Amino acid sequence: MASAAHLPPAFTATHTTVDPHADTTAGEHDVTMETIVELCKRRGIIFQSSEIYGGLRGAWDFGPLGAALKDNVKAAWKRAMLQLRDDVVQLDASILMHPRVWEASGHVEGFTDPLVECTNCNQRWRADHLEPNKAGEIFCPNCGNKEFTDPKAFNLMFKTFVGPTEDTSAQVWMRPETAQAMFVDFAHVQLTSRQKIPFGIAQVGKSFRNEITPRNFIFRVREFEQMEMEFFVRPGTDEAWHDYWITQRWNWYVEHGMRPENLRIRPHAVDELSHYAKATVDVEYRFPFAWSELEGIANRTDFDLRRHSEFSGRDLSYFDQAEDERYVPYVIEPAAGVDRSALAFLVDAYRVDEAPTASGKVERRTLLKLHPSLAPIKVAVLPLSRNDKLVPTARAVSDLLKTDFITQYDDAGAIGRRYRRQDEVGTPYCVTVDFETVEDDRKVTVRDRDTMGQDRVAIDQLVGYLTERLPRC
Ligand SMILES: [Zn+2]
Repeated sequence: MASAAHLPPAFTATHTTVDPHADTTAGEHDVTMETIVELCKRRGIIFQSSEIYGGLRGAWDFGPLGAALKDNVKAAWKRAMLQLRDDVVQLDASILMHPRVWEASGHVEGFTDPLVECTNCNQRWRADHLEPNKAGEIFCPNCGNKEFTDPKAFNLMFKTFVGPTEDTSAQVWMRPETAQAMFVDFAHVQLTSRQKIPFGIAQVGKSFRNEITPRNFIFRVREFEQMEMEFFVRPGTDEAWHDYWITQRWNWYVEHGMRPENLRIRPHAVDELSHYAKATVDVEYRFPFAWSELEGIANRTDFDLRRHSEFSGRDLSYFDQAEDERYVPYVIEPAAGVDRSALAFLVDAYRVDEAPTASGKVERRTLLKLHPSLAPIKVAVLPLSRNDKLVPTARAVSDLLKTDFITQYDDAGAIGRRYRRQDEVGTPYCVTVDFETVEDDRKVTVRDRDTMGQDRVAIDQLVGYLTERLPRC
């Protein structure tokens, strides 16, 4: 019987769980992927890599606002996983690891997708990604031919070489997941951080998978960022911790503004489980293209530590002083994708509503209702015009705010258009400097993105006003 110190704190689960074989059809959505892709390109959030050379398939660049959004997603994850906890520590491991790591993990042997080749045009496809036509037949999306070679197992790991010799002795892999470093470094991190089980090791970093068919914008790409945490527990307490982390991770998405009706927990069916897992659930998001995985939360048992003990010859068991016993810890792994999360937050935040114009008419406006902590820009400073009387004060307000918030100064175009621009990238507050500000009351107009409500706030109270509304931003 595990002592209380080994069990998770009490929690109430609020998530929706569906059947492993639940329908993945997204249904009617607020927004199409085309609209999101177009917005991302037009506003420099995310666009194709190497576009001037025709692009590289499955590779995307995060522009100024996209990079900020991604940073904010990672910061929010680290805050929840590290800063607010005493039982998780951070790791930033090398992308290139000893090649034996991937033999021990099972990736060299088994990290494959079924590859088929069209017998007519020789294009290669991932067999399980080919969509049947109305007659239920699989066809080549390139030429329409219905005959393919037998599926071959295609390893998704990118191969490269260390040093000047390009032979197998110098061959290494680009990591396909960040997780293995947490297992390989388990003993060292545990000892030096003086953590006792239960505890976790968290890492945010890039991983690489040579996807046969990258698709759905940044959803399935060849180079991506992960936020993974390996939580080491006493065997026997693993199921309770698995439930605990499912709840924690669900809450994280909801607390950062994702609508619960667009989220669901889908347990893997037995035949879907990875070779290392006793149980896995996916946190799925209702993307416009389908319900799809945002994050996997797996009970990896002691598989990884045992395999690395076996392959390295190092003992990776743990002596539990409180229980006076030695065991190989079990591992619960919440593994989330940064790019996917960023995409889901963008899709979920997208809204179209109506706003009054200066001339008293009503026009449609697009807004991203992003959680303030995720918004790339927190406050925009907008002088009513470029009039010389307004600019020095507007600049001074901008300088005042930028020490506390990510701000943007924008004086180009009509004020209404500038509001729309900020709404469209999710800026929670706009601060406008007008003639009254400089000639009369030293107050500015603060406009709320969601309600479009406006407050007059004294410049010397502005930081306090915004801090109250933008906690931890
Ligand atoms: Zn073909």
